[in-house]
Amino acid sequence: MTEILAAHDVAVEFTHDGQTLQAVRGIDLTLDEGETLALVGESGSGKSTLALALLGVHQLARGKVTFRGDELASVEPHIFRKHVQPVLQDPYASLDPRWRVARSIAEPLHALKFGNIEARVASLLDAVGLAAEFASYLPNALSGGQRQRVALARALAPEPSVLIADEPLSALDMSVQAQILTLLADLQRTSRIALLLIAHDLTLVQRVAQRVAVLYLGRVVEQGPAARTLAAPLHPYTAALIAATPSLARTAADAERLVLPGEPPSPLAPPPGCEFHPRCPIARDICRTERPLLVEHAPGRKAACHFAGEITRSSDISS
Ligand code: SF4
Ligand code: MG
Repeated sequence: MTEILAAHDVAVEFTHDGQTLQAVRGIDLTLDEGETLALVGESGSGKSTLALALLGVHQLARGKVTFRGDELASVEPHIFRKHVQPVLQDPYASLDPRWRVARSIAEPLHALKFGNIEARVASLLDAVGLAAEFASYLPNALSGGQRQRVALARALAPEPSVLIADEPLSALDMSVQAQILTLLADLQRTSRIALLLIAHDLTLVQRVAQRVAVLYLGRVVEQGPAARTLAAPLHPYTAALIAATPSLARTAADAERLVLPGEPPSPLAPPPGCEFHPRCPIARDICRTERPLLVEHAPGRKAACHFAGEITRSSDISS
């Protein structure tokens, strides 16, 4: 697989009330051509910040982002904008309310000097499952699902190599979510676009992602092939996320047994040792003092836990 976008020891900091908050704290991650990689974790885990760093929006406190092996600063901005497209969470925010659909979709094309824009808009509408007459609609005439389809057509317009989608379904009804998800998966398969999908619904991740990376307090704590990771997680935090997903927990009792106590700790004052220890059901002394590194435990499978693999399913936890 050829790497297309990568984070190398990326850290992003924000200053908050005179204090430094490390939202992303040294992440290594690669996205390969044509694959779907899901980023999961509770809110505040750094998923969106990492996505924005990969889009070149955030200044990095440390590390670098590369596109096809070249550091972002040395990639021509127009090349990067053509190839790496965001799909936002809120389709209401991503379209200009005064612009008709055709103009919204065509806008990135003008900058790229595409020929026959009208035909391209028509084929994009078709690709996202909208009838040709939608070209003349204003956003306020569209449902949430239709807006997300238009936003997707706009993102696809410049024939990107990568889509970075930050919870693209969370503003939509359940039935519409399934439709858009199927559409995204189909487009990804047929066009071989790489998709970085930020999601907190693991059912969705299981349906579309080839690989998954689990974030906790700004670090990757587990990553690996989606199917195997979700079937037999190595990190207790991943096990807890799975247990909290009714359709993935093996039994209702499993789900009840591994409920994470409390909220994630504040990134302003991360706990010493393993940052998950205050909430970990199997934490031991070493966990309170030594931070586990993200290391490979099986081919393609990494976890940052001193006792990786000890909880592979939530029912392994004795009460
Ligand atoms: Fe739990 Fe210790 Fe593993 Fe951290 S290192 S996840 S506290 S067992
Ligand atoms: Mg977010």
